Amino acid sequence: MHTTIRLRLVDGAERRLGIAGELYTAPSAIGTEVDLTHLWAVPGLVDAHGHLIANNTPDMLATDHDRADTDTMRRYAQAQLDGGVLLMIDKGSKTDTTLAMLDIAPAERPELEMAGRIFAPAGGYFPHFPVAVDEPDLERSVTAACTNTQAQWIKIVGDWPRRGIGPMPNYSEEALAGAVAIAHGYGRRVAIHTMAPDVPSMAVRAGVDSIEHGLFLTPSDITALGRRKGMWVPTIAAMEGIVDQLGPSSSGGRLIRRGLGNVAGILPAAITAGVHVLAGTDIVLPHGEVAQEGPRLVEYGLTDGEATDILTAAGYRALGRDVLVPGSSADVTLFAHNPNNDVTQLQHPVGILRRGEWRLVPDGLQVVRTSSTDR
Ligand SMILES: [Zn+2]
Repeated sequence: MHTTIRLRLVDGAERRLGIAGELYTAPSAIGTEVDLTHLWAVPGLVDAHGHLIANNTPDMLATDHDRADTDTMRRYAQAQLDGGVLLMIDKGSKTDTTLAMLDIAPAERPELEMAGRIFAPAGGYFPHFPVAVDEPDLERSVTAACTNTQAQWIKIVGDWPRRGIGPMPNYSEEALAGAVAIAHGYGRRVAIHTMAPDVPSMAVRAGVDSIEHGLFLTPSDITALGRRKGMWVPTIAAMEGIVDQLGPSSSGGRLIRRGLGNVAGILPAAITAGVHVLAGTDIVLPHGEVAQEGPRLVEYGLTDGEATDILTAAGYRALGRDVLVPGSSADVTLFAHNPNNDVTQLQHPVGILRRGEWRLVPDGLQVVRTSSTDR
């Protein structure tokens, strides 16, 4: 049975696509045609900084990552799908065991790109988080990750607060550049966690692909990152959540608030410069609720249309993935009202198609043509 669907994209353009199994095809002259142009279509929401290992930070720290609980991760992956999130970048965990999620059926999870174990030196990340890769070992460890695992991303913790001193860089710029060269040589991308000053500039110069949080990116970093179409995932909601956890007048809380002020100052310029600004849950927002970042992006100076793009098409563009064309995964998330006019719409999908199967069947799914010649 051939099915053809008619979609209306958030820019108003219409598209007709056939569905054969898990993929889109050219529209078919036979079979059923379904008109969904009363709804607004995006290729899927994108969570560009999530962690399938856990649902919140205490959970992340307490979980035994050596014995990855695949059932729990599957549940989180399903929660992502139920929120209309059809592409996710997992930005790492304590070990590589989470990479098992890449082996489960794509229909049961979002499209996934994953980092395995996170790279940080001793003292350069949460205590008891067993990821101690000191600078002399970084290149060897990154090479091992590229040759022995399925991880498509290398996740490095760029800075971390030291008691009584404040945040310090974890690695030199030279070490970062070395790690990037190795990862790129194996076709992998590199992401860096940074919440403090100085390290964003080092990371941009070192060629890191995606800046996570990046609260202290400078205007010249933005220009350089935009020129090479780099990514930036500010995770505003997650940063606000951490300020609440630490207390707004604690030293960490004050630093992050200052950083968020900087984010508000550079976010519109980042879009103009061509940076792929993306959104992420980062275990502060629950799995499937990345759309809560939308109103924050508007509050920080973007239009509803820009925020909608960040939460949807921009993630696919950043990763070079085709969407809503023949040969691409038969995925779409639908909304009753155009999120380009009101980004909060992204929190209320009314139709979700993943790998050719309706996970949420839209109301008023209207068959406009059925041909019996297909039987
Ligand atoms: Zn994270």
